[in-house]
Amino acid sequence: MKDKIDKLNIFLYIISILIFAISFIPTITQYKLWFCLVVILLSGYKLIFNGIKDIFKLNFEEDTLMTIAIIAAFILGEFPESCMIIILYRLGEFLEDKAVENSNKNIKDIVKIKTKTANIVIDSISNKIEIVDVKDVIIGQKILIKPGELVPLDCKILKGISTLDTSSITGESIPITVKEDDVILSGSINLNGSLICIVEKDYKNSLASKIVDLVYEATNNKGKTEEFITKFSKIYTPIVIGLALLIAVMPPILYNQEFKTWVLRALVFLVASCPCSIVISVPLAFFSCIGSISKKGMIIKGTKHIENLANTKYIAFDKTGTITTGKMQIDKMLSRGNYTDDELLKYIYALENNSNHPISTAIKQKVEDENIDVNYNVNNYEEIPGLGVKAKIDGKEISFGNYNFLEESVTNSLDENELRGINKNASFIVIDGNLEGYITFKEEIRKNIINIIRKLRKQNIKDIIMLTGDNEENSKPIAEKVGITTFYSGLLPQDKLEKVKEIKKNGNVVFIGDGINDSPVLAEADFGISMGEGAEIANNIADGILISNNIDSVCNSIKTSKKTMKIIKENVLFSIIVKIIVLALGTLGVLPVWVAVIADTGVSLIAVLNCLRILK
Ligand code: ADP
Ligand code: MG
Repeated sequence: MKDKIDKLNIFLYIISILIFAISFIPTITQYKLWFCLVVILLSGYKLIFNGIKDIFKLNFEEDTLMTIAIIAAFILGEFPESCMIIILYRLGEFLEDKAVENSNKNIKDIVKIKTKTANIVIDSISNKIEIVDVKDVIIGQKILIKPGELVPLDCKILKGISTLDTSSITGESIPITVKEDDVILSGSINLNGSLICIVEKDYKNSLASKIVDLVYEATNNKGKTEEFITKFSKIYTPIVIGLALLIAVMPPILYNQEFKTWVLRALVFLVASCPCSIVISVPLAFFSCIGSISKKGMIIKGTKHIENLANTKYIAFDKTGTITTGKMQIDKMLSRGNYTDDELLKYIYALENNSNHPISTAIKQKVEDENIDVNYNVNNYEEIPGLGVKAKIDGKEISFGNYNFLEESVTNSLDENELRGINKNASFIVIDGNLEGYITFKEEIRKNIINIIRKLRKQNIKDIIMLTGDNEENSKPIAEKVGITTFYSGLLPQDKLEKVKEIKKNGNVVFIGDGINDSPVLAEADFGISMGEGAEIANNIADGILISNNIDSVCNSIKTSKKTMKIIKENVLFSIIVKIIVLALGTLGVLPVWVAVIADTGVSLIAVLNCLRILK
């Protein structure tokens, strides 16, 4: 347990150093014991108190080692030595705390995206507002967001235009312009205009509090390395104390050597073998990594995933909604004559109203744009991932989906000739077993994706692969355009899963997807990444979530996780080497205890400073 750096502690520390200096005045040498005792108590009272408590609890930690060293040196009459231990140790602690505080800044900054209050509009005409706790705001209420304020809850703009700084949630540094009807996310900063908005998500489900919750959960979700270190130090420290005890008593008893010499050597051994540099710096490195990555637009759900991400060998992309924007548009619509286009569209709308697939969004958009009224009772609705949707509407069995789904749903056989002429890229509507019409869609490739894929290839990746449920005709041009040569199309969710299992045999796979059909793969991949605006279930299963679909943060995340693992290895290696040297010299009697303390706190400090590099 560490002392806090507060003003009182710093004050006491400085006083104790002055007293320590005074104790060297030759005329007061006979009172040296008392001066040193005061020094130790002033700067180390808490440490010693905790240390003694821990000894009785058999809880051996860093403070236990230091306490033993201070008390033993004191009892041996090495008063300045015991003062040096506490003074140097505390100095190291102060510096370390400062550095740790700096690296935690990112995590602390994340909390700042949450607001405590919101301005509810209580009178729409005069725009009179009341400031309330954000937790009390309910969906549908109107709120006012003033310039300079954080967007408190996910909401839709009713009135006003403004620019938003979304950098703290998406990592995208260029502000975006927003206007009426745009949905804006909590955690963005409203830069200039006043906005009247209607709340779409309550506090618990708004992005800002979800991000903060996830990041906090993540920091508690420890990885293998971290758990190993916690367990390791629990066994290691008592062993070191045992060995120190042997060093102190065995040579005097067996070889009749001087007791004091060997106790001092044992103390050097004790201090030098303190594992604190590793115990502090490893979790700190993971912690900084999570903070740094979440500031750039991706949330990682636990430190344990960082190790997997750092070892990425293959990156597999889903197509629809991932490589493409998921904002599809209807291209052509054709009815086979039994129903009008409008009638078909209404049925399809009634079906798709229950789905979140990009195709359904395109249909909804069209119906809303043309102000078509749809009023159907939908029964037995079913969404078959990778194929389409079906339900009973108006007493009819209706399905809408891709060519494979058409083959499944059509019961009345189609004319051979007509079948040959059919555009297999389309989505087909089948009513009571008859093909009644089809729609083709245009989809847009996500801007920047070509560059992103190029950047990803540079990160020591063996291959980038596309796995899609869509058919080959649609997928091939898209794969070619974005620079992916390995792609598999027409995959059902279980096929995607099989493919990923296969790729996994050759190395770690990162999978990025957005849909319900991607969920099994997201779970199976070594690191699953979901598009934050995609299906809820994908976000729940994934190891990392891209807030606002910013795929660019994948490059950054892989880089940061690699750097983190590298820094951890450096720190562990460096600590072990220094410790071995100090242990050897100390046991030979070449080093005084205070040098061992400097070595120990110095290594910790360097390790912590090294962690700061993760944030750069
Ligand atoms: P991807 O794997 O590229 O993201 P999906 O698995 O989401 O693609 O979809 C595969 C195909 O399944 C789509 O191209 C579409 O034809 C069909 N499909 C899936 N869901 C729906 C739906 N809700 N409505 C119509 N078709 C759908
Ligand atoms: Mg998809």
